[in-house]
This record gives sequence, structure tokens and C-alpha cells, in this order.
Amino acid sequence: MTNLIDGRVVAEKVYVDLRGQIAQLRAKGVTPGIAVVLVGDDPASRAYVRSKDKMSRELGLHSVKLELPASTSQEELLARVDELNRDPQVHGILVQSPPPKQIDEAAIVRALDPRKDVDGFHPLNVAKLAMGDASGFVPCTPLGVQRLLIETKIDIAGAHVVVLGRSMIVGKPVALLLMQKARGGDATVTVAHSRTKDLEKITRSADILIAAIGRAHFVKADHVRDGAVVIDVGINRVEDKSNPRGYRLVGDVAFDKVAPKCKAITPVPGGVGPMTIAMLMSNTVKAAQMFSST
Ligand code: NAP
Repeated sequence: MTNLIDGRVVAEKVYVDLRGQIAQLRAKGVTPGIAVVLVGDDPASRAYVRSKDKMSRELGLHSVKLELPASTSQEELLARVDELNRDPQVHGILVQSPPPKQIDEAAIVRALDPRKDVDGFHPLNVAKLAMGDASGFVPCTPLGVQRLLIETKIDIAGAHVVVLGRSMIVGKPVALLLMQKARGGDATVTVAHSRTKDLEKITRSADILIAAIGRAHFVKADHVRDGAVVIDVGINRVEDKSNPRGYRLVGDVAFDKVAPKCKAITPVPGGVGPMTIAMLMSNTVKAAQMFSST
């Protein structure tokens, strides 16, 4: 029988752990602080920033929400990042992606204090992930995928994991994380992308298939072997006139056809999505712990 992996339930468990850690920090006079910077008015980005700010407040974190106009220059944004780097009340900084065209996103990421880079995109943190150095920050979505697998007691060690997608946000870091010689790692990982040949043959060999390509319902029943675990990272808008918003969100996996074949599968929404925010909160608490111990 298919086991539905409920990201909301696992995220709630993460929050229980975090509340304990936050209480311990507060007892030492430290309130973990996070700053989320939004440049421009992209509606999806605005919604993400709102939910991150809401969760931070619910956990009792010090939360700074910086909304800057779409016309903000590179220099202005760098100056704000510099202020946040130097603000002792802020332990984690996130600049919401994608920024407007005039902003060089890579330069902004490099300007972050890597000790506050709770998104895990600074080159130093990317290097630490590749090297298996646990003092770095791992991007939130890959970390959430790993935590979902661990909490649902899916065997990662020795499993063949196929990752569909090779972005720096999801595909590459999730591959590095699951192949690490560490708890929650030790998988044999294959990374597939748009130039991969015989894709179905490869995905069908997966014990765990992670779909992160950004194409609605791309993964069909033929891509998946019986008894596989499927993690659907995709968030895609498809037109839906019956929905008041005119669209609904679906994953990269054709859930209805694929789910009956699976040992376990994540839904969209309610799978990986809630874990991404939970891991952002977790990375912020980790940053505060690291600052308070130095
Ligand atoms: P991305 O940067 O666009 O990368 C997509 C990857 O998929 C690329 O590596 C691309 O290959 C590959 N790809 C595209 N079409 C393919 C095909 N037909 N066959 C095989 N591979 C194909 O996307 P992303 O930022 O990683 O995001 C992926 C999805 O995850 C999106 O739906 C996004 O909204 C979602 N997402 C969700 C969360 C969450 O919290 N749940 C967080 C982040 C992202 P090439 O490299 O060859 O172009």
C-alpha cells in the first residue's frame, strides 16, 4: 500500500525540536534572528517571504522583513546586506530569489557573511557541503528532502537515488547530501538532466526518485519501478478555471498514476514545500547557536 509522506507532519516535528533549542538559546540571552530581503514585487516571492516571516514570528524569532523597490540598485542592495552582516541581532540572512534583472545575484550571495548564509548558496557553504564539513549550511530544500526520508525511515544507505535535475538550488546539493559518508547519506546517486539519454531506463532503476525539473506531471508511471520511493520537489502552476485563483499547484510527478506503484510518495502541495521553510528555521537556529558559542 502506498505510504503518503506528509511534509506538514514532519515539519511540525522539526518545530517541536526547534522550540526546545530556541528556549535554550533564550535562556542564555540569545534570540535567533533572521532577515528576509525581498527586492521587487513578484507575487510568488512575496508569498514565500510572507510565510517565512510568519513562521519566524510563530517560533518567537527576531524577524526582519526588508521590502525594497524593484528599482533598487546593486550598490543599494549590497549596502543593505552589509548592514545585516554587521547586525548582531541577525544570525541568518536570505535574499529572495529571483531578484530584478539589474541585480547580479551571484555577487549578492558572495557578499553575505557565510556564517549567516542560511540558504546555503555562498561558495564557502557549497564547498563545505562538497567536502562533507557539517559546519556549513546546506540549502533548505535538499535538507528538507533528506529529513523527510530520515523521518519516514526510508533506507538511504546503499539505495540507488536518481535525482532528476541539476540546479544549484535542488539537484546538485541533494545529490551531494545523499552521497555523503554520513548519517542520511551513503546512497549511490545518479543525476539526470535534459541531455540525459534513456531517461526512463535510468529512473526505473531508482530505489528513490527525486524529481526537481519544474515540469508539471513530467514523471509518469513508466518512469518508476514498483515499490520505489518518489519525492516530488516540483511546484508548477497549471490553469484551473474551477479555482478562484485561476490556477492550482502541481508537482513534477503525475501523482494519480505514479502513487499506486510506490512504496512511498510526497504530495504537492504538502510534501517538500513545508520542509523547505522548516529547514530555513533550523538553519537560522544553527547559525544562532554557532554565533553564541564563539
Ligand atoms: P531549474 O533551475 O529550472 O532546473 C531544472 C533542472 O531540470 C535542470 O537541471 C534541467 O536540465 C532539468 N530538466 C528540465 N527539463 C528536463 C527534462 N525534460 N528531462 C530531464 N531533466 C530536465 O529548477 P529548480 O530551481 O531546480 O526547481 C525545480 C522545481 O522544483 C521547480 O518546479 C521549482 O518550483 C521547484 N522547487 C520547489 C521547492 C520547494 O520548496 N518545494 C524549492 C525549490 C524549487 P538542464 O540542466 O539540462 O537544463
